[in-house]
Amino acid sequence: MSSVIVPIQDHRQFEQSDSEKLGDEITELCGYIYAATHHLLELIREFDEMHYWEDLGFQSCAHWLNFKCGFGMNSARERLRVAHALGGLPKISEKFSEGAISYSKVRAITRVADETNEAYLLMVATHGTAHHVERLVSQYRRAKKLEDAEFARDMHAQREVTYYYDHDGCLVMKARIPAAQGELIVKALEMAIDEQDVTAETSEDPEPIAARRADALCEIAEAYMNNAENSGSTADRYQVVVHVGARLAGDIPRLENGPHVTAETSRRIACDCSKSVITEDESGEPLNIGRRSRTIPPPMRRALKARDGGCRFPGCTNHKFVDGHHIIHWADGGETSLDNLVLLCRHHHHLVHEGGFDCKRSKDGEIYFLDQKERHLEPFPTPKDTTLEESLAWMYRKFEEKNVSAVTPAAKWYAGEEMDWEHAVSLLF
Ligand SMILES: [Zn+2]
Ligand SMILES: [Zn+2]
Repeated sequence: MSSVIVPIQDHRQFEQSDSEKLGDEITELCGYIYAATHHLLELIREFDEMHYWEDLGFQSCAHWLNFKCGFGMNSARERLRVAHALGGLPKISEKFSEGAISYSKVRAITRVADETNEAYLLMVATHGTAHHVERLVSQYRRAKKLEDAEFARDMHAQREVTYYYDHDGCLVMKARIPAAQGELIVKALEMAIDEQDVTAETSEDPEPIAARRADALCEIAEAYMNNAENSGSTADRYQVVVHVGARLAGDIPRLENGPHVTAETSRRIACDCSKSVITEDESGEPLNIGRRSRTIPPPMRRALKARDGGCRFPGCTNHKFVDGHHIIHWADGGETSLDNLVLLCRHHHHLVHEGGFDCKRSKDGEIYFLDQKERHLEPFPTPKDTTLEESLAWMYRKFEEKNVSAVTPAAKWYAGEEMDWEHAVSLLF
């Protein structure tokens, strides 16, 4: 038994047994935890909307939660999804804030809830068990999918991919793909997104998903080309070649057959590319192709991977699709040596070159990062010195006015009564 003093509100007249007391203590604490979870999600939503995590170089609010609060990436993303969904579901949000419905129930109903079915779903969530709620939501989603599929006909003839380079040099693509193949593409994108984050869930992402898909698309292209290279085909044709003038600072680099890129972008590409950089003299003749000093040889790359594991940026979980970054760029006299290299994912490599962040190495060999205002980013979160008793006492005080009791979170369902699933699903449509 813990030594925590829990203020149980005992409404019963008769003497409770120890096990009854324990049961009440558990359910009442659950009510408080749900009320506190609601409060937490409100704070998370507000925090996400402030985009403060971006100032700290985090790829998303989920990465910040993973780093600072100890949520797994899936769990962090799911919490963000629920937090944002609750913003548009006032009735569900209110009941959740009272500790009357659990996070599991809220998580399930927010997958399908909108203003038209909110009240009904809330009724099911209040009366049913979490199992009822989850089953209803999954049956509804399946039924909805079948209905939607009826519209998906004769799409084959309209398939197309068009693209052009926009005035700022960005590639703009538009695709129209039949549902089945489209799903394949989305799957591949989702997988590439998952690879970025180690995790494998496909829950919706609070970070601009469009931006993450763009990264994923590039990674798929890269993986495809690597594969072609490994199978010994004419991969040279597909290499991204950046033409850089001999005086790097002065000339505007450009992609082969493509638009100009910024100097920092060409430096990022040059940071970790075995054959892509051609340094040219004034007449455009190749001056130095694949200069070995800036190319990371495979044994060094393996050592770098062994040392860093994945991206070294504080709070980053990426360990695939990482680049070797020269802490002092080769163009500034930096060596291609383990001491001068650090693994960074695409997102953070981009931040360090074009995003105003910086990566440095101290005299005693420690790698550290600076934000856009040149402030040190903390390498790991420093925990606050709070005891469990203090935290619980805070929670009970904080949610005192919610009148949480041992029956607050309990399902109002008659045990054993079977739910009419078909009818329940039809009510959702
Ligand atoms: Zn770099
Ligand atoms: Zn990273």
